[in-house]
Amino acid sequence: MHEYSIVGALIERIEQLARERRAKAVHGILVSIGELSGVEPDLLVTAYETFRERTICEGAKLTILPVVARWDCPECGQAIARGAVLECPRCGRPARLAAGDEIVLERIEMEVA
Ligand SMILES: [Zn+2]
Repeated sequence: MHEYSIVGALIERIEQLARERRAKAVHGILVSIGELSGVEPDLLVTAYETFRERTICEGAKLTILPVVARWDCPECGQAIARGAVLECPRCGRPARLAAGDEIVLERIEMEVA
C-alpha cells in the first residue's frame, strides 16, 4: 500500500533529523496532507501505528493537517474559486494547482538531551 511506503520514508527522515540533533525521543509529528495528494489520512495513521514500534517515533503522536486544494492563475495570480471552471476569469489561462497535492513534514517535537 502507498501509505506504507510514505510512512517508511517519513520515519526514516525523522530518525535522521533526530540523530542530527541528538534527540533522546520524539514526542509528536505534524504532517500536512493535501486532499489531492492521493493519500488517505486514515490509512496513513494505520500505517504509522504499525511502523512506529521500535523506532524513535514509538512514543510520538502523529497529527495530520488536511490541506484543501487551491487553484490560481499562473499568469496573473488570480485565485480560482472552489468548484469554478479551472480557467482564469481575467486572462483565460488554465488554472494551476497552488496547494492540495502536498505531503509535508511540518513539525517534529523532539526531546534533546
Ligand atoms: Zn490570469
